[in-house]
Amino acid sequence: MKVSILASSSSGNSIYIEDGEFSCLVDAGLTGKKIIENLNKIDRDIKDVKHIFVSHEHIDHIKGVGVLARKYNIPVYANKLTWDNMNIGEIKTDLKFHFEKDEVRDFQGVTVSSFGVSHDAANPQFYTFERLGKKVSILTDTGYVSDKMIDNIKNSNTLIYESNHEENILLSCSYPWKTKQRILSDQGHLSNKDSANYLTKIIGDNTKNIFLAHISKENNTKELAYMTTRNILEEYGFDCEKNIKISDTDPDDPTNIVSVQ
Ligand SMILES: [Zn+2]
Ligand SMILES: [Zn+2]
Repeated sequence: MKVSILASSSSGNSIYIEDGEFSCLVDAGLTGKKIIENLNKIDRDIKDVKHIFVSHEHIDHIKGVGVLARKYNIPVYANKLTWDNMNIGEIKTDLKFHFEKDEVRDFQGVTVSSFGVSHDAANPQFYTFERLGKKVSILTDTGYVSDKMIDNIKNSNTLIYESNHEENILLSCSYPWKTKQRILSDQGHLSNKDSANYLTKIIGDNTKNIFLAHISKENNTKELAYMTTRNILEEYGFDCEKNIKISDTDPDDPTNIVSVQ
């Protein structure tokens, strides 16, 4: 299995995953044009993408879904409540599929599972991808991490995982108090510190790669997300030098395409 985070931040998220015949996007929250460009940067073509899995209806996750599905005939998967709340224009019924929370399905030999998260959307869910004992899990856009979420993504080989904001920066920024409260709430986003603390319960012997995702452009920096995560993991005895590679993700540019090990 191979993965690239095509872009990630509060202004647009999309992840590319492939394995043999299987290839998909999880979310397409940038313009269709930008997603195509970023796929090209990792030598991939939108025409080869077979599925788009949607996590929730916020614009930073769905902006390009409708355009790409219509233009390239790509099937789109989301749960019913997300479909009901998603504004992506008309999608032909033969491209429109339900993928409910806690569902498990096989696509070209890859087992795709969904699990619920705590976020202020209709029915948000994220996904795990497994094949031949290798597992990729995605978790962003959640205000906290429940034991059930931990069970779903525990000991994944590769994690794409939220480190949204630095709490002090958020509290002192110019956002209205209501927006700050929303982000800090149980249905908002994870701070660097909370994210890293949960991570200590998620990492297992198989975990080799962690991509810090959904890093806020206004209330965080890649360095703060990285250093906070690393410091907390090392405090708990994890060896980030040898065993676990922590990488950041970028709002505009894709990460390298990496093999899941
Ligand atoms: Zn969201
Ligand atoms: Zn988001």
